[in-house]
Amino acid sequence: MSKTIVITGAGGVLCGTMALALAKEGHNIAVLDLRKEAADDMADFIKNEGGNAIGVAANVLEKETLEKAKVAINEAFGKCDILINGAGGNHPLGTTSNPFLVAEDLMNKDKDFKTFFDLDVNGIQFVFNLNFIGTLLPTQIFASDMVGREGCSILNISSMNAFTPLTKIPAYSGAKAAVSNFTQWLAVHFSKVGIRVNALAPGFFLTDQNRSLLTKADGSLTPRGQQIIEQTPMGRFGEPEDLIGTALWLCGDSSRFVTGVVIPIDGGFAAYSGV
Ligand code: NAD
Repeated sequence: MSKTIVITGAGGVLCGTMALALAKEGHNIAVLDLRKEAADDMADFIKNEGGNAIGVAANVLEKETLEKAKVAINEAFGKCDILINGAGGNHPLGTTSNPFLVAEDLMNKDKDFKTFFDLDVNGIQFVFNLNFIGTLLPTQIFASDMVGREGCSILNISSMNAFTPLTKIPAYSGAKAAVSNFTQWLAVHFSKVGIRVNALAPGFFLTDQNRSLLTKADGSLTPRGQQIIEQTPMGRFGEPEDLIGTALWLCGDSSRFVTGVVIPIDGGFAAYSGV
């Protein structure tokens, strides 16, 4: 049966890929993104591929824009059956330059060099807001359509850094840990009104956000990129298409007794101790 699926951040790489896959299953897709042009481009792409989609501009941190988006989506496709909370990301102001603090770092006067003591609370708040509040607000707006109806569910996008924090990115790791925790909380809270809530925890996928951190201009790996591949038992980065199978399963009725899970899609990264 065709469902109405709202996907935040679907103007981006990972959620755009899931949007296309869900459209190919016959669902109506609302491609919601802060960047109106990216949302429209992705919706056009889906339509060119034979799917049904609209692009909708909204900021996951502004309730009014989400409410407006909901009106447009309800008019186009009816009530929302499934919400994928995909908008998210990191910020350089919540990131340290080195994985470990050494005493000499405190003497480094380079303005771009950041120790733990230089972390900017604005950067940290940006990351917590985008990932956590940006999951909570769309859920408040769109889950109101789902209460008491059959086949409704929410899929959050956490990260494998929620299980064990990655070096250098305390804000992003903490914010995604909050998303995983919230997934479980919501799954329990919504269990009596028929809304399942689960999450994907992607490992390392090469996207526009992290390409320059993981690869050099000539395409070869940076030291951090190399370290990640060595730490990934399957020996490669994820490809956006690797998310599709689990997303289809968690959004579909074959997972109807599954709620409150956070599924790593990481080539074994989270399972590997490195020895
Ligand atoms: P991306 O940057 O390609 O996509 C993110 C999209 O979110 C962008 O289109 C952006 O415009 C949109 N967005 C940003 N702020 C917004 C806001 N306030 N309101 C509405 N939309 C907003 O990133 P991606 O790599 O495709 O990441 C998608 C999700 O997957 C994110 O939650 C990210 O944290 C998560 N994730 C990514 C990786 C990875 O390796 N790329 C790994 C784990 C988790």
